[in-house]
Amino acid sequence: MLRALFEGVAAAIPGQCAVCRAWPAHPVCEACVGRFGQPQPRCRRCALPVPAGIAECGACLRAPPPLDACHAAVTYGFPWSGLLSQFKFRGEAGWAAALATLMRSAPWVEPAIEQGDLVLPMPLASRRLAERGFNQALELARRLAPKKTDGRLLLRIRETAQQSALERRDRLLNVKDAFALDPLQARRVSGKRIVLIDDVMTSGSSLHAAARVVRAGGAAHITALVFARTDEPD
Ligand SMILES: [Zn+2]
Ligand SMILES: [Zn+2]
Repeated sequence: MLRALFEGVAAAIPGQCAVCRAWPAHPVCEACVGRFGQPQPRCRRCALPVPAGIAECGACLRAPPPLDACHAAVTYGFPWSGLLSQFKFRGEAGWAAALATLMRSAPWVEPAIEQGDLVLPMPLASRRLAERGFNQALELARRLAPKKTDGRLLLRIRETAQQSALERRDRLLNVKDAFALDPLQARRVSGKRIVLIDDVMTSGSSLHAAARVVRAGGAAHITALVFARTDEPD
């Protein structure tokens, strides 16, 4: 799986490893993925790290989040935080395939995609999409599940401040009523297994807000798949 990542991507775009500068390896060499990208046991409901053998963390047992399942490939931190900003803000859309392959190699991701009926990327506000030129979540979703991905069903109907700049309580308020299903297509989620995709999850408030909207549309089961997850519930 990981070898395919390097061979496939290196063949397409020869270059250096973005972490250790080994060459040819792009965007990240095999040694760096081995060092920084090893899967670790995570709560199946919120993707925070847990001791081996534990399925759900105490917080999720006490107060189940609106997501039925949540899986992350890596912890948000060095070197992934830097690579993700390059992916996102410098238009390195070509990295989507490599990041999606890493996501696929994380436990539970493959079966979640297989069992899902619809894969919905987290939408960007149209102004942000125009600035950036692409939605990184849509790029990941297309690589993970080309046939099941629908980038027009889940909409962002309200411009929100960048979540990363806010405190937790403000994040919750910030994303309230930010999402909606396209009214003409909303019934497509009814009774279905939905997979939400995002590149980074911090407090989870955006994914939770989107999950509530999808649940209100009648979805039977909702899983979130993210590339990177911060280690603190913050
Ligand atoms: Zn490297
Ligand atoms: Zn949990």
